[in-house]
Amino acid sequence: MISVIIPCYNEIEVLQPLFERLTMAAASWNRPYEVLVVDDGSREPTWKLLQSIHERDPRWRVVRFARNFGHQTTVSAGLFYARGDAVIILDADLQDPPEELQRFIDKWQEGNEVVYAIRTQRKEGLLKRTLYALFYRMLGWLSDVRIPYDSGDFCLLDRKIVDLINAMPEQNRFVRGMRAWVGFRQVGVTYARAARAGGEPQYTLAKLIKLAVDGIFSFSTTPLRIVTYLGLIISSLSFFATFFTLLQRMFAPTFAQYGLGPVPGFATIVMSVLFLGGIQLVCLGVIGEYVGRIYDEVKRRPLWVVREMLDAESDTASLASEHRIGRNWKAE
Ligand code: UDP
Ligand code: MG
Repeated sequence: MISVIIPCYNEIEVLQPLFERLTMAAASWNRPYEVLVVDDGSREPTWKLLQSIHERDPRWRVVRFARNFGHQTTVSAGLFYARGDAVIILDADLQDPPEELQRFIDKWQEGNEVVYAIRTQRKEGLLKRTLYALFYRMLGWLSDVRIPYDSGDFCLLDRKIVDLINAMPEQNRFVRGMRAWVGFRQVGVTYARAARAGGEPQYTLAKLIKLAVDGIFSFSTTPLRIVTYLGLIISSLSFFATFFTLLQRMFAPTFAQYGLGPVPGFATIVMSVLFLGGIQLVCLGVIGEYVGRIYDEVKRRPLWVVREMLDAESDTASLASEHRIGRNWKAE
């Protein structure tokens, strides 16, 4: 069986066309499938529409979060509740065309455990495109894990990979990084990313920046090393500066011959104080990012809270408590 998981946050305009196009595409797969929509705390109309879709086609299961938990958590929940032997992650807004999925399934049948999509083209503005490109190059440079350029969450995962990702206890979930970390046979499939079929992007700039920061800090400790190097470089520079100042004082007449005599250096002092102050704040900030993440991890909060579930096989009332509170990690 194949599971398609769809994170959804206020996607009222696109759900109907998504339902139709996905159902059309899935008909040609000739294998059983389920669609698992994870509703990330959408407003009431989206939920009503999801209910009616579930009534029309019970293969569409819906998990409803108690509030907005964010895209990466939504995808993680999808992976957790999916039952298929292969799991596909698809955005709700039809930017990832369902018609492409046949190629993913073929690649999976050839024995690849991870089939990820590489965007050859984007329909977003120049600024957003540049930022995306910059982010992926920077992540590639900083991270120890080879995370393929320009591949988002659109992918197919074998059951083996899904189980491994589900077993990862971290709170800061950067799914495409975790997917790359696992290894096995991974292959990319190129496709042209379409424009949004309707509605507004649910990823605000702030959310995108958070995703980028999560990606970098969850998959790399290089920034910490950069901070150390920076400290070393600046310390050695100031050592030479101190040495020079000392000589300047001691041999003032000689230095004065070359026009390097000691001067009342107000500007120099102000500049170096400000510069060093700035560097120290940045370094504290970098370290703070890691401390904050450690704090998140030690709290061991569940990743999400389920409000309702529409599932032909298990109704909400009979949901085990571990399903109501997603991934409540207990100390073994
Ligand atoms: N999404 C979500 N929770 C959020 C924001 C977005 O579940 O807080 C979903 C959204 O419904 C969509 C997918 O994540 O299916 C990608 O969002 P969007 O299209 O806004 O991002 P973009 O394609 O611009 O990266
Ligand atoms: Mg989108």
